[in-house]
Amino acid sequence: MLPWQQAREKVIEVVRARMRRPGRERVRLERVLGRILGESVAADRDLPAFPRSIRDGFAVRAADAADIPAEFDIVAEIRAGDSFEGTIGPGQAARIMTGAPVPDGADAVVMVEHTRELSARRVAVDRPVRAGQYIVPQGNEARAGQKLLDPGRRIGFGELALLAEVGCAQVHVFRQRRVAVLSTGDEIVPVGQQPGPYQIRDTNSLSLCAQVALAGARPRLVGRAADQEQALDERIREGLAAHMLVLSGGVSKGKYDLVEQVLRSLGAEFYFDAVAIRPGRPAVFGWCAGRPVFGLPGNPVSTMVTFELLVTPAIDLLSGTEPRPLPLVPARLAVALDEKEGLAHFLPARLEWTAAGIEARPVPWRGSGDLAGMSQSNGFIVVPADRPRWQPGDMIEVLLRRDLL
Ligand code: AMP
Ligand code: MG
Repeated sequence: MLPWQQAREKVIEVVRARMRRPGRERVRLERVLGRILGESVAADRDLPAFPRSIRDGFAVRAADAADIPAEFDIVAEIRAGDSFEGTIGPGQAARIMTGAPVPDGADAVVMVEHTRELSARRVAVDRPVRAGQYIVPQGNEARAGQKLLDPGRRIGFGELALLAEVGCAQVHVFRQRRVAVLSTGDEIVPVGQQPGPYQIRDTNSLSLCAQVALAGARPRLVGRAADQEQALDERIREGLAAHMLVLSGGVSKGKYDLVEQVLRSLGAEFYFDAVAIRPGRPAVFGWCAGRPVFGLPGNPVSTMVTFELLVTPAIDLLSGTEPRPLPLVPARLAVALDEKEGLAHFLPARLEWTAAGIEARPVPWRGSGDLAGMSQSNGFIVVPADRPRWQPGDMIEVLLRRDLL
């Protein structure tokens, strides 16, 4: 049984070593949010392409305002997108808008709030002027040809804007990975079906597909398999057509927990078959037919927690990018805790952002099957395996829920 941090490291090490690089496709910029860049991108021209005014005001020669107040003749008006072909001479000023090119001769922009217009053709400057003020020089942000983004970068809204700035109307991104999701258990029925008295609805298919999609891959629902060798064998083979397979249920020690056994019969090797966490202890990770395979415990909250800790870095790596760090942050504990030693506990918790930082309090929760309790939470308090007892006011780590931020 591995501590969860080591289990996560193991996943990263194995997937990094055994995976193949994803293929690429060209996609329109409007459709690449959250995708992984598959090429390096350079500036197609200087950024900015011209010396740019960053204030509305007057472009002048700073030396002319050595003695203030100083007066200038207004010789031009330059709007954003326009230009002025002339040169600003001594005692001259051009009215200029934010985003407009600063004309030759001028080396400073005086913001309009620091001027007095004496007439339509004459303006006074009341404050000292520093050469270069409110001008971004041409190429100040990047030179034409300079590399701006490397392959493997995730495209967020900032990267999207940068790609637009350098004219990438289409861009190469790595193809999204397909992750097969397979729920196992004799007792589970699809959500659209009325469960019998001792049956339960399959919630893990929904939550797992959601977690796969949030992680940036494409979920592929294989469906459900009963706790029976042949059914499992068939479904698992189907799932192995995807780039990765995530199963839920059937990995504990019960007589009908057959997932590991069936995977082994299909040639799987395992890297761990238990993790020192609650909920989620029976989680297994292996490799089968060239694919990473996760067997997550079936209790819905166990499935969610183990997915976040163990499966997300595998999806990042398969997708062609470095694993994102877990969103773990310190929080002030509102209550005392006394958990079992030897296991790290992930307690569904309500996190509140206060002026003094994050405050965390466990939600009333009846264990790893309790989705009603869990739905009050927006994160998990992480009680480390080697420190089970905590006092109110202690600083403890919490795991943010990515789906709610
Ligand atoms: P297992 O890991 O197969 O021993 O299942 C542990 C618990 O999780 C049992 O109470 C199952 O009924 C429940 N469970 C298993 N699979 C699912 C699922 N797909 N949806 C909701 N609950 C499940
Ligand atoms: Mg089961």
